[in-house]
Amino acid sequence: MELELEEGPTGQVCEKCGRMCEPLEMDTCPVCKRGFCLYCAHRFGARNYCSRGCGEYFFFGADDESESGAEQE
Ligand SMILES: [Zn+2]
Ligand SMILES: [Zn+2]
Repeated sequence: MELELEEGPTGQVCEKCGRMCEPLEMDTCPVCKRGFCLYCAHRFGARNYCSRGCGEYFFFGADDESESGAEQE
């Protein structure tokens, strides 16, 4: 019995906890595009992210080390 895990049509596996979830329980991180389940979701604003880091990344942007006080585009 071989367990070749190809991308099957049914169900998705949370990449955080490895749990097999129904599509409705799954969400996709807008930052890293990983799939995660509701139980692993970190909520930032109105969206869910796979991790706190991704949420902060999306929220505060990909700012580099230099912190300039001025807010500019
Ligand atoms: Zn999970
Ligand atoms: Zn993420």
